[in-house]
Amino acid sequence: MPAGPDMEVTQPTVACLVMAAGRGLRAGGGLPKQFRAIAGVPMLARTLRAMAAMPCIDRVMPVIGAGDIADYETLVGAIPGVDAPVFGGATRQVSVRNGLEALAAGNPPALVLVHDGARPFAAAGLVDRVVAALKDGARAVIPAAPVTDTVKRVGDDGVTVLETVDRSRLRRVQTPQGFLFDALLVAHRAAAGADLTDDAAVMERAGIAVTAVDGDAANIKITTAEDFEEAERRMTGNLTVRTGMGFDVHRFEPGDAVTLCGIRIPHTARLAGHSDADVGLHALTDAILGTIGAGDIGDHFPPSDPQWKGAPSDRFLRHAAALVRARGGLIDHVDVTLICERPKIGPHKQAMRAAIAGILDIDGDRVSVKATTTEKLGFTGRGEGIAAQAVATVRA
Ligand code: MG
Repeated sequence: MPAGPDMEVTQPTVACLVMAAGRGLRAGGGLPKQFRAIAGVPMLARTLRAMAAMPCIDRVMPVIGAGDIADYETLVGAIPGVDAPVFGGATRQVSVRNGLEALAAGNPPALVLVHDGARPFAAAGLVDRVVAALKDGARAVIPAAPVTDTVKRVGDDGVTVLETVDRSRLRRVQTPQGFLFDALLVAHRAAAGADLTDDAAVMERAGIAVTAVDGDAANIKITTAEDFEEAERRMTGNLTVRTGMGFDVHRFEPGDAVTLCGIRIPHTARLAGHSDADVGLHALTDAILGTIGAGDIGDHFPPSDPQWKGAPSDRFLRHAAALVRARGGLIDHVDVTLICERPKIGPHKQAMRAAIAGILDIDGDRVSVKATTTEKLGFTGRGEGIAAQAVATVRA
């Protein structure tokens, strides 16, 4: 029989639960650790983005604490390929069960991975090994790494060494762990009330064989403040310092105020332009786009598009900053020079710095606003318009 639509070999669908319902306050910083930033991006957002980008994963579902929904929406927000979060319970086991039930209630996957939100460094090769072992027939798969430290067993007092343990057959277990979805769901339902620390243990309890594949030493679980520092070093060590420049001009037309670097200044004319004609923010937007080779402001917000008519220019700048951050970048410093005879910029410089810092969500001391005249020479000297130039420095 020829292969037709009914004969297609369909790949099993793979869902990934990302567990982030714990309180995790040990890392300090006041927030549950999954929302703490690593190089400017919340850890959970990094983990979710990494999983959503895995070619072998079809859908990603975060499991968070019910009390954390506001933090989630503010700090993580919508990520393409990531489902709306499901709420966890009092223990990790209950939280995983809630995630599995949510998957079961929709269009259940064939395979499910369960991953720690606190492991943002899981690499594609590791995830592929877990999924490949499932496709080869394993029902439960864990990534595991050898124990390299010497291991001792101590007595009840916690200090008296009783014996040296043979470490050759001990393994440190990581995530993502992978399972046949139906088998894990049944095992979890049967294990309700038991106190098991990982999902492989839930399967072991159900008598299902668990297979180990090679873990990855880089796939660390981030728990302590020191772990965050190490993760930050690891992330930023891979970033390159990039500089972008921008330049813009708008001419005067009859009016009573100009908007410069987000600040409205009464004047005897206004600047002509399709948006609010904030020449300072336009130059800065181009500078930031330039750092990541993302074109210019006209590519993103065509002047021919009526929706930008009269638009406040902070949205252009916000968009450029979001593009830098979406690739894990950090905005280190920006510097804007406004070029005009009038209005006088000096009295407004601090307000402009604060406005830009707010739009970019960076410290005020990372923002510079300067002004100069052209000694009455040229179009700015004749008062025909205002020019601005900007430089931005990012790591991306
Ligand atoms: Mg412009």
